[in-house]
Amino acid sequence: MIKRLLQRVFKPSKKPASPHQPQRIQRKSHGIRKDQISQAALKTCEGLQKAGYEGYVVGGAVRDLLMGFKPKDFDVATNATPEQVNKVFRRSRIIGRRFRIVHVLWGNETIEVTTFRGHHQNESSADDAAVTDSGRILRDNIFGSMEEDAARRDFTANALYYDPAREEVLDFHHGVADIKANLLRIIGEPKTRYREDPVRLLRAVRLSAKLGLKIEAATQKPISELADLLQDVSPSRLFDEMLKLFLSGHAMESINALRAQHLHHGLLPLLDVVLEQPLGERFVMLSLENTDRRIESGKSSNPSFLFATLLWHEVLVAWKKFKDQGEHPIPALHLAMNQVIDIQAGKLAIHNRYVSTMKEIWSMQPRFEQRAGKRPYALLTHPRYRAGYDFLLLRCESGEISQELGDWWTEFADASTERRTQMLLPDNAPKKRRRRKRKPAAAQQHA
Ligand code: ATP
Ligand code: MG
Repeated sequence: MIKRLLQRVFKPSKKPASPHQPQRIQRKSHGIRKDQISQAALKTCEGLQKAGYEGYVVGGAVRDLLMGFKPKDFDVATNATPEQVNKVFRRSRIIGRRFRIVHVLWGNETIEVTTFRGHHQNESSADDAAVTDSGRILRDNIFGSMEEDAARRDFTANALYYDPAREEVLDFHHGVADIKANLLRIIGEPKTRYREDPVRLLRAVRLSAKLGLKIEAATQKPISELADLLQDVSPSRLFDEMLKLFLSGHAMESINALRAQHLHHGLLPLLDVVLEQPLGERFVMLSLENTDRRIESGKSSNPSFLFATLLWHEVLVAWKKFKDQGEHPIPALHLAMNQVIDIQAGKLAIHNRYVSTMKEIWSMQPRFEQRAGKRPYALLTHPRYRAGYDFLLLRCESGEISQELGDWWTEFADASTERRTQMLLPDNAPKKRRRRKRKPAAAQQHA
């Protein structure tokens, strides 16, 4: 039955005669039900259509529904300009400069509405479009037809349009056939498309890992060769893409694929170094496995924790260097943390809101070593204790530090008052500790 339905989708007679005509795939064949689309996306398409424009659900959501996955979010494409979209919906705003789009708000759901993008012509106004000598697109606000819009998307599986009114999927580049054949295929000439936007190199690897699609041969071929193009991508775009990659639920596969294709070099300095040292590699892999497991079981995963693990072995190296130069351990750790973040920021700008939590997790680590007096009790009340403790356990598991320390904290956290008192280690360095008393006050501000 399913086979028959699929055959109907791919029946040659249904194929468009020219590339200008999309293949129109009907409800019976594509199997997408309207109730699988968010109400907000449906209302957005309806609003646009009522106002005399076109409105389609587009991109990742259509692809995910065809593949039987639940879409993360729904994007809408239209022939209305951002200003026209803005007029149709009272609760909407135009955002972006490099790529102007409209956010339409429905309760707490936001739908991104994108106007069909057209071809870049030499005579285009510099305000609307900008392309570098190497072919990279810096700004893209040239509007065009739906067919042109489809050609400007990255992969065939991402260039599908769902019309909720007719319940039809419009397919200009045989995306449905590629999905069925389990292929991720770039639209157009691969090298040109990667040069236009090198982030597509990462997207190829990420989407293939996430969706279980094989990167088609011609799409695959230039990837390693063009890896250096990623050096020019802005740190904040790289961060967004890496975050998606790490939190996709397929981080391990993605990282392994990035390495196999030589895309990791220079991307995250940490991956260069860390993946080459056995202990660091084990730590990163454990952390990624952990993240994948959490996401698989529907839990959220904190990007700060993840990035703290990815950079930890860099921090350890820098920390040792500062201690060897005669710094006291705690100030040395703070110098090390700042240095690692600064070096990293040149390549990949980790958002500030994550950086402060990462620093909290790191600066808590030496405090786990202090198991005498009142200090363990104070650490337990730290607002980020749980993250710091999970981090400690990963360090134990990776072999960096003794498992005994992790076990001690596991027991201490849940122990009775009596047992806790028994567990405390003797306070056998009174002099040193007293002298340090003034410093932790400064350190604790960060902790
Ligand atoms: P995900 O499920 O991870 O969000 P996605 O394909 O939906 O994957 P988005 O970043 O949400 O990724 O992009 C939405 C759509 O915009 C894509 O499906 C694709 O059609 C188009 N797109 C996104 N990034 C690019 C790009 N770099 N070049 C060309 N088209 C792109
Ligand atoms: Mg998406």
